[in-house]
Amino acid sequence: MKNPAFEKDRNPVKMKMEGIKGFLIDLDGVLYIGDQPIPGAQAAISNLMKSGYAFRFISNTTRKCRKTLYSRLSAMGFEIPEEYIFTPPLAAVAYIKKTGRKNCFLLTTGDVDRDFEPVCARDSGAKPDFVIVGDAGEAITYDNLNSAFRCLMEGAELIALEKDRYWMADDGLSLSAGPFVQALEFASGKKAMVMGKPSEGFFAMALFDMGLQTGEVAMIGDDIYTDIGGAQQAGMRTIFVRTGKFREDILKSAMIKPTRIIDSIASLGEIL
Ligand SMILES: [Mg+2]
Repeated sequence: MKNPAFEKDRNPVKMKMEGIKGFLIDLDGVLYIGDQPIPGAQAAISNLMKSGYAFRFISNTTRKCRKTLYSRLSAMGFEIPEEYIFTPPLAAVAYIKKTGRKNCFLLTTGDVDRDFEPVCARDSGAKPDFVIVGDAGEAITYDNLNSAFRCLMEGAELIALEKDRYWMADDGLSLSAGPFVQALEFASGKKAMVMGKPSEGFFAMALFDMGLQTGEVAMIGDDIYTDIGGAQQAGMRTIFVRTGKFREDILKSAMIKPTRIIDSIASLGEIL
């Protein structure tokens, strides 16, 4: 026989999200694909805000500086404070500041170099202290990779802004920074320090900013390894979306099991 009291208090759909006070939300593939917002994503974010949940955006995007990302999100109709956006360059800048060294060889594209202006020296002629590799797109050439390799062999430290395998571009799945970071590691024998997801330090930056503990936060993402696997490793619950780079076969073959799976961020209300 059914127990009405039990059913009232313990809705199985919502139970898994009990005690959640905030969210870490991936950008690419979760809020938008290319220049197209995911339908209903703007409303989902404003509903979170209205419901009093804390949230921060935590993206491995390394082609744009934080200011440009912010402008782009605003243009798509997302009302998000710029300070809510956390990207790997911010984590790298914080790390470089701590070391007191500043000669950087940047292997990046777009305007992401603007995030590094406060700490990185240019044209100094000195040997680089750091080789910093992001998702560099067309800037990945033999010459550029080889220059990065030579800096490493002369003593530079390897910083990977992210080490994702691929991402969903407008025209299809595309190589991210990971394959090239791995090539540089292989050639130089050095291990990269990874700044973006799934680095626990990166999640911790955003959690600290919200003033929440890992058990109170769920990560929403479209990457089974860096978003879902990384957040689970850090002790968070996870929500996997069927948008962006989501592929049914990858979900089936991965050992990682998300806490919840939803069609898109627009369906978030159904599980809260
Ligand atoms: Mg993504």
